Amino acid sequence: MILITGGAGYIGSHINKLLNKSGYDTLVLDNLVKGHEEAVKWGKFVNVDLGDENELKSVFETYDIEAVMHFAAFSSVAESVQEPEKYFKNNYENTRNLLKVMNEFGVKRIIFSSTAALYGIPETVPIKEDAPLQPINPYGESKLMVENLLKDESDFRGLKYVSLRYFNAAGADIDCEIGENHNPESHLIPLVLDAAIGKRDSISIFGDDYNTDDGTCVRDYIHVEDLADAHLKALQYLEEPFNDSNVFNLGNGSGFSVREVIDTCKKVTGVDFEVKTEGRREGDPDILIADAAKAREILKWEPKYPDLEDIVETAWNWHKKLNSNYIA
Ligand code: UDP
Repeated sequence: MILITGGAGYIGSHINKLLNKSGYDTLVLDNLVKGHEEAVKWGKFVNVDLGDENELKSVFETYDIEAVMHFAAFSSVAESVQEPEKYFKNNYENTRNLLKVMNEFGVKRIIFSSTAALYGIPETVPIKEDAPLQPINPYGESKLMVENLLKDESDFRGLKYVSLRYFNAAGADIDCEIGENHNPESHLIPLVLDAAIGKRDSISIFGDDYNTDDGTCVRDYIHVEDLADAHLKALQYLEEPFNDSNVFNLGNGSGFSVREVIDTCKKVTGVDFEVKTEGRREGDPDILIADAAKAREILKWEPKYPDLEDIVETAWNWHKKLNSNYIA
């Protein structure tokens, strides 16, 4: 059985679906602080907080866990700047608990949900995995601390891990059964879609004085279904006894500015709405674009939905379903 921490959340729920469709048994562990029980449509579910070591041990006692996929974390850069200690507790210390219990129960494989935020302000783009790790916000810092811990556990205690550094996860399940549902929402695409649906009056661009073509931040948006597929491939990679721990970037290798994302959302939804410009949000690098050649080569990963319009289309379908009460 594969344990999926944070499997009631946005990315974890998509992997839970894919693993079940691919013949794996899954156990979703989530404290439902950010996750939604209704997103756990496949596998088993336990409502447990990773900070509760005794509860965690009883989960490992009860279920036969062969590997862990670890998504449970806070993921808002903006919030992490305001409340860093929350991020170190939830993202780092709770992972330490998880690794401790895994070690106690002899569970030796983990796939970690990491992030491009580890690279901070990159010296060159596209970014390769061996670029300097110099996060500029507590969210990225907390994830880097976990990667360092994983490396030590791997070097000295026989753990095998794959760390997947996502660029900007976006889009939704193509069957529209699950999707992004953060409360409060802080990510660009769902906020823009909120404006399209009339839930917000406008969308604000956080800074138009960045060192990019149109002055707004450039990001590499990767479809959540493609992320899910990479996790399945990473699990299969770790099932091969001779494969070592490894780290992979996951992105499409193409960047879109905040303005381009907003324009794409207007095109896909057919709705016009007000766009304002505000000051910069703290902790945002100018440009993040992945070089994901390593994942393509070693994991044989090939994104199926690299087109931003396709990504937004699936996000829009889900957004309409989630907010059906806003549709006249
Ligand atoms: N952003 C924005 N307005 C918003 C939300 C986000 O201009 O209402 C910008 C944000 O500053 C960043 C980009 O959109 O440059 C992507 O932000 P998001 O929070 O979606 O993902 P992140 O890059 O922080 O992981």
